[in-house]
Amino acid sequence: MNYRIRYIAIGLLFFTLLASVTVAQQTEIFVCDDCQQENMVANKFCVNCGETLSEEYARWQADVKSRELQLERFISERIDPPRIFTVPTARVLRSMDVRLTGGGAFGVAADRSFLGTVGIGLGDIAEVEFSTVRMMTNITRGSSVFPTSAFKLMLIPENRWHIPTLAIAFRNSANWSDVQSDRKVLEADLYDVGFAAKGITSIGYETRFTTMYGVTSVRLWSMNIHAGLSLTDVRVQDLAIRSYLDEDYTNPKEKQKNLIGGFFGIDVESNPQTKLMLEIRTISNHEYNVETKEIDVSEAYLAIGGVRFFFNRWISTDVGVWYQSTFRGIADLQIKLGLNLFIPGGSLSEKVRQLSPSKGSSRL
Ligand SMILES: [Zn+2]
Repeated sequence: MNYRIRYIAIGLLFFTLLASVTVAQQTEIFVCDDCQQENMVANKFCVNCGETLSEEYARWQADVKSRELQLERFISERIDPPRIFTVPTARVLRSMDVRLTGGGAFGVAADRSFLGTVGIGLGDIAEVEFSTVRMMTNITRGSSVFPTSAFKLMLIPENRWHIPTLAIAFRNSANWSDVQSDRKVLEADLYDVGFAAKGITSIGYETRFTTMYGVTSVRLWSMNIHAGLSLTDVRVQDLAIRSYLDEDYTNPKEKQKNLIGGFFGIDVESNPQTKLMLEIRTISNHEYNVETKEIDVSEAYLAIGGVRFFFNRWISTDVGVWYQSTFRGIADLQIKLGLNLFIPGGSLSEKVRQLSPSKGSSRL
């Protein structure tokens, strides 16, 4: 694995993000009412005719204010998924709001697996989620997909006491999940680990995991920063290997490994409809070791940079470039694509209540 390529890929993601932020901040100019000369916002008097620019300035300020108001309304009323691409934020869904997310990754090495999530907000402080998540392995192409369920509880609510939002969560794979090797991967000896030399034709095992994490979100100007720490308990059992060479493959006992990981994400409002997003996180990596004849559980990291575009308040799409440390070069980069759809159960009924004439009387 070439370290230089890793750093170049991460650097490119950052660069793209910064460049987009810079482009998004346009410079403002006035046109003088008297002579049509273009002036900078900082100017008190016209550089051409010397007339005062106070009227123009007042007009510009009112215009800025109304644009800001419109923007604020769109942003406050849209439903933003409480996560970046895969990194969770400390927010939870509004009570009774339902989120449906579906998507996948596209690239040469991408597994064409579909990832989906169903989440529901409970009482504005908790959230339940059912989703499929990816785990990396060297015996299949790309990664393996698991069904999981999760529960997130907000300990310090948003915009409260002027301190960062804080949440803890628990995620569990539904059951033991079967991981079966991909014949082509073993034959191609994709990662130069010697499957072919050992005559291995198939590898299979069962695994499950439980993760606990804490996450905090902080707002700095138009940027949201999210960071968290996670503890993951991974179990592996029933390893079965088939080889046409006469080797002894005894079935090792159930294996347990604790992994301490972390994640970091930022999102920036680029315009009312678009957010720039970047995330870096650790991910469980399962690799079959031909020497020890066991599954080695370790940590790898992945980075995704891209945008979230809001079609309207309830439908948004996430598009990003995905890089992970098990990739050998930028030719393995994948495009991650997701669609977020909300059923605004809670938000909508609140809206109806606000608009109804008997305001407050129908409150449950
Ligand atoms: Zn002028």
